[in-house]
Amino acid sequence: MPEGIAARLPDLSRDGLAISDLREKGMALVYVNRAFQDITGYSSDELIGRNCRFLQGSDRLQPEIQSIREAIARRADVTVTLKNYRKDGSWFWNELSLSPMSISGGEPTHYIGLMRDVTTSRVAAAQIAQSTRADMLTGVLNRYAFVEDVDILLRQGERPMLLIKIDMARFHDINEGYGYDVGDQVLMQIARRLTNTGAALVCRTGSNEFALAQPLGHADEAQTAIEMIRQSLAPRYLVAGATIGIRFAMGYVVGTQTTDAITLVRRAGAALHRSKSSAFLDICAFSAEDDRRARNRLRMTSEMQQALEHDEFDFHYQPQVDLATGTIVGAEALLRWHHGLFGIQSPDKFIGHAEDTGLILDISARGLRTVADFAARVNRDRQVPIAFSFNVSPLEFKLRDMPKFVSDVLTASGADAAWIKLELTESLMVESSAEMLSIMRHLRELGVGLSIDDFGTGYANLRYLEDFPLTEIKIDRGFVKGLAQSRSKRVIIESIIRISRELGFHVVAEGIETEVERTLLRDMDCDFGQGFLFGRPVDAARFASLA
Ligand code: C2E
Ligand code: MG
Ligand code: MG
Repeated sequence: MPEGIAARLPDLSRDGLAISDLREKGMALVYVNRAFQDITGYSSDELIGRNCRFLQGSDRLQPEIQSIREAIARRADVTVTLKNYRKDGSWFWNELSLSPMSISGGEPTHYIGLMRDVTTSRVAAAQIAQSTRADMLTGVLNRYAFVEDVDILLRQGERPMLLIKIDMARFHDINEGYGYDVGDQVLMQIARRLTNTGAALVCRTGSNEFALAQPLGHADEAQTAIEMIRQSLAPRYLVAGATIGIRFAMGYVVGTQTTDAITLVRRAGAALHRSKSSAFLDICAFSAEDDRRARNRLRMTSEMQQALEHDEFDFHYQPQVDLATGTIVGAEALLRWHHGLFGIQSPDKFIGHAEDTGLILDISARGLRTVADFAARVNRDRQVPIAFSFNVSPLEFKLRDMPKFVSDVLTASGADAAWIKLELTESLMVESSAEMLSIMRHLRELGVGLSIDDFGTGYANLRYLEDFPLTEIKIDRGFVKGLAQSRSKRVIIESIIRISRELGFHVVAEGIETEVERTLLRDMDCDFGQGFLFGRPVDAARFASLA
């Protein structure tokens, strides 16, 4: 070691130390310590006299090498981490600090290199970096990394960028029906297929949602690219010894350099939303209209939240009459939103959105209390009580402890359980799980009625009529309308009534608008009727005065 240097060095039992002489041709090494030899595998004899750049092997394109060159040219300090190779050919991460030093006190004469093998920590850091970029289950990018990388691609070229969002339909059913591990397997298979399409970036954006990004030669190529992706997703999926068919909704957008990744992802998402709500999950291209709808949805959500706070929801009540006697026996509570700007809004305008956002849970919780209170008030002095029907959203059955909730509401309102009927949709019966059955049994034990709304418009398998403890069927108004002119409608209604008789259900015909319809239904032995003929839905005060 050149004199005058040793005294200025720290203890270097673990770190490699090398000294190169700037005055020698090629900055030859003049000294290496023991640790340097241990780390590199070369002996002192093999190292002295050489430029230590040979440790970089053929990895000469590392950007760090350029930093070293520049620093040395300026006689400056530099610290970099670069890949070096040991004598046996294996590589390690070398955290290298270079400092110029002078033994004469003037111009630098030597460079001192301190070397530390940081492979272990560096690899761990890389793994962490990777794991924070990748989706844990499928290994494709997560959405943060995706957005970053899409932005990089957008900045790199002038080519149009295709961004597709894909949603796997009925994922919930697969999880419920086959178990979560099977659900996971399906997601992994989807990720693999998407990766195999060769798309530049593949990402899992949400539980059952994926996104792809692909630079195109020309915007016209989007169709071909999408068709290729659609075809690779189409074949059935092999899981748990069975093959299952899966359908996908897809929305896409073609962007240019001037759009940023977030905007593209949002636009593809808006197009996906339209695809999901189309009956056949059409592949949808983003349009300005989607943007408007997405903004509307946001606005609607916040308006509905405020409407809840300001108590803007209430019920109109529509009478149900005994077709034989004409007396009012029941009423259906129909939700209304008193919108500050647009006036009274019917549920068709907002129920879907309330279900998508989960707001229906709050609306409905308050709703059932209102209806039960009203039932208690109306029936207090009546000889023959009126039964109030309340429409229950399938979401409530899934997310709420319905028996407990209903029981609490009844207790608080003082309403008799027999005064309340819950109207369910056929879609609930499709999932004929033991859990659903047990919920319904509990509700029946409380004494509330269970009615199937819009019967005949949902799932066609009538097995559920046998399984579930129902009390009533409501014939959809589609069968009632034009009854006089349609023999097939009469046959269908007669059959529904006969089945109901056999199984002990009441039958309510919905949407009766004419005397002819009423007479025909009464003659077919239908118990009850509801429709404009008997009365339109009216507010609580009006109904109370009628009843
Ligand atoms: P639904 O339960 O089948 O209710 C009957 C719908 O038919 C009501 O529409 C009612 O106004 C309408 N209607 C009744 N008689 C006639 C008729 O003679 N002719 C015609 N053309 N229509 C008639 P509305 O009030 O707009 O409600 C629409 C749907 O919104 C309801 O269909 C129900 O599925 C849902 N809904 C209403 N209230 C609630 C609620 O509180 N919660 C939930 N989850 N859904 C509700
Ligand atoms: Mg109903
Ligand atoms: Mg109905």
